[in-house]
Amino acid sequence: MENIRKVYADNAATTAVSQHCLERMLPYFTEQYGNPSSLYSFGRENKKVLENARKMTADAIGAALADEIIFTSGGSESDNLAIKGYARANVKKGKHIISSKIEHHAVFETLDALKKEGFEVTMLDVDSEGFVSPEALKNAMREDTILVTIMAANNEIGTVEPIAELAAIAHAGGAVFHTDAVQAVGHIPINVVEMGIDMLSMSAHKFNGPKGVGALYVKRGVRIQPMIHGGGQEKKRRSGTESVANIVGLATALTDAVERLPAESVRLAALRDKLIEGVMKMPKVILTGATDMSKRLPGTASFCINAIEGEALILRLDFMGICASTGSACSSGSLDPSHVLLALGLPHEVAHGSLRLSLGHFNTEQDVDYILEKLPQVVTALRAMSPVWQE
Ligand SMILES: *Cc1c(COP(=O)(O)O)cnc(C)c1O
Repeated sequence: MENIRKVYADNAATTAVSQHCLERMLPYFTEQYGNPSSLYSFGRENKKVLENARKMTADAIGAALADEIIFTSGGSESDNLAIKGYARANVKKGKHIISSKIEHHAVFETLDALKKEGFEVTMLDVDSEGFVSPEALKNAMREDTILVTIMAANNEIGTVEPIAELAAIAHAGGAVFHTDAVQAVGHIPINVVEMGIDMLSMSAHKFNGPKGVGALYVKRGVRIQPMIHGGGQEKKRRSGTESVANIVGLATALTDAVERLPAESVRLAALRDKLIEGVMKMPKVILTGATDMSKRLPGTASFCINAIEGEALILRLDFMGICASTGSACSSGSLDPSHVLLALGLPHEVAHGSLRLSLGHFNTEQDVDYILEKLPQVVTALRAMSPVWQE
């Protein structure tokens, strides 16, 4: 095979751990492995390390207090803890929750579970670019609305939601505001105080940290019920011996990501725009998500490619060494297009040809050039075999 390189363009799915992050984590596996809750100094040292990581994490998102950070096993757990934890602890105030039709499954399925406990959920529509309308939220607010949960940025199409505006509306109606910011943290500026966020979920592996660790920001005074009971770690909000190595990894990767964000987001946005421009040169391709590039994640390019099956495209790209993703067949193996693409109003047959290319810290311009060389070849080959393709 001629000139095959490996291009990882699926950074919205997960990212590589940076060398710096790995180096900071390593001592906590084999040398400094003490339990932070132990009384002897070997353990107590790690309590200090843990609290330092908590402070770094709080600072990176503009939280006022380190104690507002709860470490979890990742984005999914943070979403579950925020939504179930708040709903169950505040059920006496009301049983109505508002969310959107483009949330990640970790929010979607959690809300479904709460419906079985008697909560009522309103899922807001989005427009054709994936924006939740503040006006629609205002209209959906009710006397018994206790929680509004809307993602900061969408994982499939990269649309960045007007979080500060939405949070203000939730507060005006007496509700608390949670955001799944797993795609946003480390990629666009986030300040929980300035944006009026009461609870925020993040996950380390989406910003060059390790998998299996995340954090939930919970503003002081916001009450949540724990999901995991046990030794009472994390101020009784999340039991289980703290994974010091993972938590150090999260804090290090996050601090690095926030530090380089101003320059890195400009670099990535330029690569993204070059990628979008190149892909859009092919006939019958549409861009999905925000057309205003300033309201799009800097690394995310997403499309629907006419007359092509997303899965077939991903497999062909894989032969070329390119890792990309499609929303047209979900992880369960069903052939339904993703709920996100359908919420944009795209017909099934269009949504079937979806392609997401998500760039990250380790991508270069050569990667983009390589994708722009190979993708049109693959698309032309697939279309030549397609019964529905018409020039
Ligand atoms: C990846 C992702 C999650 C899940 O995070 P995990 O750490 O993999 O559990 C939740 N929400 C969004 C928007 C994501 O992109």
